Amino acid sequence: MCGIVGYVGSNPVLDILLDGLEQLEYRGYDSSGIAVRNGDKINVYKAVGKLKNLREELSSHAYEIQKSTSGIGHIRWATHGAPTVVNAHPHVSNCGKLVVVHNGIIENYKELKSKLEAQGCTFKSQTDTETVAHLVALKYEEVKDLTKAVGLAVNEIEGAYALEIMHADEPDKIVITKRNAPLIIGVANDGFYAGSDIPAFIKHTNKAVYLSDNQIATLTSSSMKIQDKDGNEVTPKIEQLPWEPVALSKMGYKHFMLKEIHEQPDVVRNILFGKLHSADTPIELEEVKLTREHLKSLNRIQIIACGTSLHAGMIGKYLIEDFCQIPVDIEASSEYIYRKTVTDEHTLVIGVSQSGETADTLTAIKQAKARGSHILIITNRPDSAMAREADSLLSVNAGIEVSVAATKSYIAQLTSFYLLALFMAEIKETLDNVKLSTLKSEMLILPQKIEQILSNKDKIQTCARKYSGTRDFIYIARGINYPTALEGALKLKEISYINATGYPAGELKHGPIAMLDETMPVLSILMKGSVYDKLLSNSEEARARNARMIALTNSDSPKLDELFDCIIKVPDIDEILSPIISIIPLQLIAYYIAEFLGKDVDQPRNLAKSVTVE
Ligand code: GLU
Repeated sequence: MCGIVGYVGSNPVLDILLDGLEQLEYRGYDSSGIAVRNGDKINVYKAVGKLKNLREELSSHAYEIQKSTSGIGHIRWATHGAPTVVNAHPHVSNCGKLVVVHNGIIENYKELKSKLEAQGCTFKSQTDTETVAHLVALKYEEVKDLTKAVGLAVNEIEGAYALEIMHADEPDKIVITKRNAPLIIGVANDGFYAGSDIPAFIKHTNKAVYLSDNQIATLTSSSMKIQDKDGNEVTPKIEQLPWEPVALSKMGYKHFMLKEIHEQPDVVRNILFGKLHSADTPIELEEVKLTREHLKSLNRIQIIACGTSLHAGMIGKYLIEDFCQIPVDIEASSEYIYRKTVTDEHTLVIGVSQSGETADTLTAIKQAKARGSHILIITNRPDSAMAREADSLLSVNAGIEVSVAATKSYIAQLTSFYLLALFMAEIKETLDNVKLSTLKSEMLILPQKIEQILSNKDKIQTCARKYSGTRDFIYIARGINYPTALEGALKLKEISYINATGYPAGELKHGPIAMLDETMPVLSILMKGSVYDKLLSNSEEARARNARMIALTNSDSPKLDELFDCIIKVPDIDEILSPIISIIPLQLIAYYIAEFLGKDVDQPRNLAKSVTVE
């Protein structure tokens, strides 16, 4: 989770570390800290809370380290131990000479801690990470070489980690290593950068080396040496990153989330470009590496994902079953990996993840791959660990998503599922041609329809404000928009902390209806089509219990005015495509409520963007 950054080179390190951490702040942010070389010592500075607290803390110390040119930094998303100064990274060994920053979890930290205590180490923090500081420091005592000491120590560590380590006796050097957590080296003329994600250093260089699991890199201002776990030197593969630093700017919007919501028409256009040409030409999806025969013979699909990606996957299930008549199971990755799943080479397994680093999903697809399944990955990060596991890679190209609450990556995943399901239906010939062309021509105008919603936000904003004082919120829908109800509720929970829940409307009377009274807002996703009348009846039932009724609809029926206090209209659309349209006002409702309540929209409490721990 969270972020680490490092630099060794010829430029002053302080701003490099702080700027790098700021760019990673979207990943996790309950405390932060840096360690910077200062003469023959290493100085450590830490603060609880947002990065601005560390900046404040440093304001009276900056003069001490203004000439320093090497250091490491960390922004924490606590897994072990509360977010306190003591638990913040970097952690320091008992000799005071070795410092470490860590992303991930040391799973055997308890055993390591007892062993290290028996060897005389004393622990200050409650973190799992501190074990690494003491372990590497003890190894260093034996071998007097930081790279070797790290190599010996990681043999005893279990779990997921990206580590950056410095030792006072080895000036001008950072040793880094990783296992099941991302860590990337930035290669520049002025030295070497290291970060858990590209934004940490993209301002300085777009040349990068992706470290593989168990490799150890030794960075100095003029050299980079990478070795594998047996100590053999590896020739680094330097890649050119297709990234623009401007992607990390808010471009005049108050929050990244609002900017990213507005990027959605272009995100859909980008995905459709080159794949969906016209209503009458077949969909081109050369990313899918299954042969036509294999595709035709598939008798089962599993979709594995977490959070918002799970909701996109639920709609994917609906589409594939409807268009291709192949049974699809969908499961939260964290459940999938801890039970006996029936997966084999006749099953296509689809993993969905914005970051492509989601630990649970990564583990799940590795398990499925080991059982012989073809792995198709839908991700926003073609450079991610999950992408590297893929047999087929559908890269959604939504651009970097900074807001922790996912919006444009969700729309991108959804659009990819529509393309995939239609592509498979064309090969399997399971959808009649008229329906196929109607859907394709409607898909081509989706971006304009999203733009229409985005240029008429006033009503949505007014409605959001009206309900911002509520403690609870219920979203109801049926059919293909049931996952939209879940996603709308998740958005609201994530950024406003209102207890929002999505229900299949038919389930209301099996329990949740007991909660309804004049204080409870119920938002009904009422799109014209197969379940419209049923949903209308469910909305009547809720109204009869005095709930505060909101409709999100493409219907013009005057009947709705009697039933609903607030009606949000969206452009007309085929029912099956409606999830791409109906989620937009729900994202905006969540945004405006959170913004009105003064919440930290882009960095909601307790969350992290890239969930790299299980
Ligand atoms: N497990 C470590 C801790 O709780 C690192 C967490 C992180 O990745 O930020 O301090």
